[in-house]
Amino acid sequence: MEAEKKSSVMVLLHNAFIVTMDPQSRVFRNGGIVIENDEIKAIDQSSHILHHFSALEHQIIDLHGQILLPGFINTHVHTSQQLARGIADDVDLITWLHHRIWPYESNMTEEDSYISTLLCAIELIHSGVTCFAEAGGQHVSGMARAVELLGLRACLTQSTMDFGEGLPTSWTKLTTHDCIQSQKELYKKHHDTADGRIRIWLGIRQIMNSTDRLLLETRETAEELKTGIHMHVAEIPYENEVVMDSRKVDHGTVSYLEKIKLLRGNLLAAHTVWVNKTEIGFLSRAGVKVSHCPAAAMRMLGFAPVKEMIEAGICVSLGTDGAPSNNRMSIVDEMYLASLINKGREACVKGTTDPTVLPAETILKMVTVNGAKSVLWDNEIGSLEVGKKADMIVVNPFSWSMVPLHDCISSLVYCMRTENIVSVMCNGRWIMKDQKILNVDEEKIILMAKHASSALLKRAGIMIPNRMNVL
Ligand SMILES: [Zn+2]
Repeated sequence: MEAEKKSSVMVLLHNAFIVTMDPQSRVFRNGGIVIENDEIKAIDQSSHILHHFSALEHQIIDLHGQILLPGFINTHVHTSQQLARGIADDVDLITWLHHRIWPYESNMTEEDSYISTLLCAIELIHSGVTCFAEAGGQHVSGMARAVELLGLRACLTQSTMDFGEGLPTSWTKLTTHDCIQSQKELYKKHHDTADGRIRIWLGIRQIMNSTDRLLLETRETAEELKTGIHMHVAEIPYENEVVMDSRKVDHGTVSYLEKIKLLRGNLLAAHTVWVNKTEIGFLSRAGVKVSHCPAAAMRMLGFAPVKEMIEAGICVSLGTDGAPSNNRMSIVDEMYLASLINKGREACVKGTTDPTVLPAETILKMVTVNGAKSVLWDNEIGSLEVGKKADMIVVNPFSWSMVPLHDCISSLVYCMRTENIVSVMCNGRWIMKDQKILNVDEEKIILMAKHASSALLKRAGIMIPNRMNVL
């Protein structure tokens, strides 16, 4: 029997300012792109694309000079924390963790995680994100359902801890074996699902909540499954002090991870704020990827040595972190912040400012090609090139926030707002068109989120005290 020939869907976009982020850093002032099913088939000057492809049965879209970019990649986001936005603002770290976040997360149901991920991902899509790395949250199956429905791409990770003081009782029952086993099951169930858009990673929440056995078995399991590990690393000085004291190393978490050979190319280390020069060397030599989350760092952690890490050749990307650490899940805001914070940090480190630190091109790399390398997906995403997956965004720069456009590349970092992003395509399909999320009813999700978060806070016994003179 003759195999049925699958008819292909062709989309042709032309008259666009295309920032490819390819190895030659090509930018087309008036470019065109052809997408066949989920892949980029051609990219060139508009005239060339129209001449060679417009005769075929295509959906042809004139972008009228708008900007086309690869979809952004957010390499550290807690999707299951979205319903906790506003529950831990302006509180100390112990209150934040023990009295707000742990009770919240330990009382979540899978349905809560599903709704939380939907709400979070809607915000991610509006800010141009087509792929994200989950930082380690509750109920991965709920997350997977939301990601599949919305049409996004993601590396999902379960929050994993097998040790620590003050943990909720439901979590203290988990043995190291349970932690590894449940992640293996999630891998079996969800890895490479949703047309290949979902991948399952292993998680280590942080070193202070991990036994050595968990660290080592995670390393081995990731090796066996050929997947990545997502871990919070060197977030606060206290973490390093605990590690130096209990695990007998010179400096902190990174030194210990080096000692036990957990520093590898498949490790995505979030934050890595408190690292010294030697540890930057360890990270660089091992090919560890770092997710810099500027807003969360400023709010709770401190200045990460991003300039030094980039100079050492470390692949640094950007993340938003979770809603209780940042409130805004816009990677566009993080791009702006990353550049400003790291320019300003020079004044603290050297006593003089340096406006040349982290220029716009570097920031754009962080949210595209570096993001793709960080999630171990750079053979398929991160740039607009023939043969790569069709993950891209359309930016309308002709509004008050971006006009005039004397320097288009810098405008994307210093002027662009989330509201400038009009359309988002992932895996060859539009998931947002003219700022409308296509696969779910946004208003309905907002309503569901309001109900679910109120019920969850009530169940968890979390009370948010009034501020100012509420009458
Ligand atoms: Zn985090």
